[in-house]
Amino acid sequence: MNPHCARCGKIVYATEKVNCLDKFWHKGCFHCEVCRMTLNMNNYKGYEKKPYCNSHYPKQSFTIVADTPENLRLRQQSELQSQVR
Ligand SMILES: [Zn+2]
Ligand SMILES: [Zn+2]
Repeated sequence: MNPHCARCGKIVYATEKVNCLDKFWHKGCFHCEVCRMTLNMNNYKGYEKKPYCNSHYPKQSFTIVADTPENLRLRQQSELQSQVR
């Protein structure tokens, strides 16, 4: 039985199948979420089970910065101060 394409929902045959991110894609459907540049197994970047090109891969540095121990401590401190008032 042939799988369905994660992008367009149509059946993917073996000759045009890309198996990536736990899903199957047509070669032509495996493109960047943002710019639709066609990707392949060698140049794609997976994020939340979706393919992105190198320049549109979501940067996660913002959330990582927000959750440093120092920032958590500062946040708890400001919450305590707001309770005092
Ligand atoms: Zn497709
Ligand atoms: Zn892109």
